[in-house]
Amino acid sequence: MNRSIHLYPNAVRPAVSRREFLLGAAAFLSLPAHAMAAASATLAFENGLWFDGEKFSPGTRFSVDGRFTHRRPARVDRTLDLAGACVVSPFADAHNHGFGVKTAADDRKLVTRHLADGVFYTRMLGPTLMDETWKDALGLNRPGGLDMAFGDGMLTGIGGHPSQLQAMLLKQGLYPGLTADQLDGTTYFQIESVADLEAKWSKIRAKHGDILKVVLQSPGGRTAFAPPATKRAGLDPELLPAIVRKAHQENLPVAAHIATASDFRDAVGAGVDQLAHPPTFGMIDKADAELAARHGVVVMTTAANLKILLPPADLPEALDRLRANYRLLQAAGVKFAIGSDNVSDTSIGEVAFLREIKAFDDVHLLRIWSTDTPAAIFPKRRLGRFDDGYEASLLALDGDPLRDWSATRRIRLRVKQGVVLEEPARGA
Ligand SMILES: [Zn+2]
Repeated sequence: MNRSIHLYPNAVRPAVSRREFLLGAAAFLSLPAHAMAAASATLAFENGLWFDGEKFSPGTRFSVDGRFTHRRPARVDRTLDLAGACVVSPFADAHNHGFGVKTAADDRKLVTRHLADGVFYTRMLGPTLMDETWKDALGLNRPGGLDMAFGDGMLTGIGGHPSQLQAMLLKQGLYPGLTADQLDGTTYFQIESVADLEAKWSKIRAKHGDILKVVLQSPGGRTAFAPPATKRAGLDPELLPAIVRKAHQENLPVAAHIATASDFRDAVGAGVDQLAHPPTFGMIDKADAELAARHGVVVMTTAANLKILLPPADLPEALDRLRANYRLLQAAGVKFAIGSDNVSDTSIGEVAFLREIKAFDDVHLLRIWSTDTPAAIFPKRRLGRFDDGYEASLLALDGDPLRDWSATRRIRLRVKQGVVLEEPARGA
């Protein structure tokens, strides 16, 4: 069976349409640099079952200039027979910390792992050292490559989270080239007044983040790596409305790290756009959840990390509380995004843990992972759906994930913005 070699995007394309049978072929994977050439090829995807957020329905889609259309174009360069595969939009992770903390070389394997897992969209919701050269070396933010957004330039209070964590990570060898006294002003900014904010704003904006991360941690929230629970360990919540106003004036959305239900109230009340975590401590007030829904606030899941952040004895109760908070948010109509808070992996483990603790039903979980999370990371792009004009990106799965979730790990075809991702040199 050598048919799969014809899938190389750089191969000479035949003048007439060609049909390719994908299921049963090896699941190929490419480094982004090899997958960039053929974005403008016109593709036909036939015999797929397409996820619409609720169910899978049969249909055909075409990719023209890297975007989906239902209408058959005059010319089709390649026809891909999906042979009954269930098709979902690529997966995402709205809260990750894996990239940009050591060297570009360290990040290469992680890019490959993301593409292998079908996690095509991720966001570093914290400091990175990445510059344009570093991003280019990883082939980021191109058709066929991993897309990454940044929540860099984190604001906290004096001595607040993540200052202790960052100092620890520095000692462990992260942030090469930085010294301990450079962390404030580089990996985070300590803000104690509006004047402080104004004075540091140009440096904060020079980070070129896609979203501004702010830290709220009121007393009562005790986790590993964070200062004691007896005092505030983040921004003064009274400063938050001014910070949000300033960011919104520059079209910069705001994501708040929160620890408690009162942080949730402060963040939503101040007009933040996204919450980097659900509260770990306390139950959300129903009225606060409803306000969050009205404001379109997106809450990142970050469940699996509780296994690291909390003492084992506290975990069962914390997970009960987490499930109850998720239920309350769902009932209010709040949207979620998958957030792994992971430092070395994709969102695969987070999603597996959410299933393990029965946080969401599978239809909802698949919709969050493949539709809502990409939209939360890249709100200005049309992605995460198979509608006309949306980016032609997909994963074709060997099996129905709503019957057998393990199908999410059996990806037979990966397409990103009209580029078919394949292993460049296998068998060649
Ligand atoms: Zn985080």
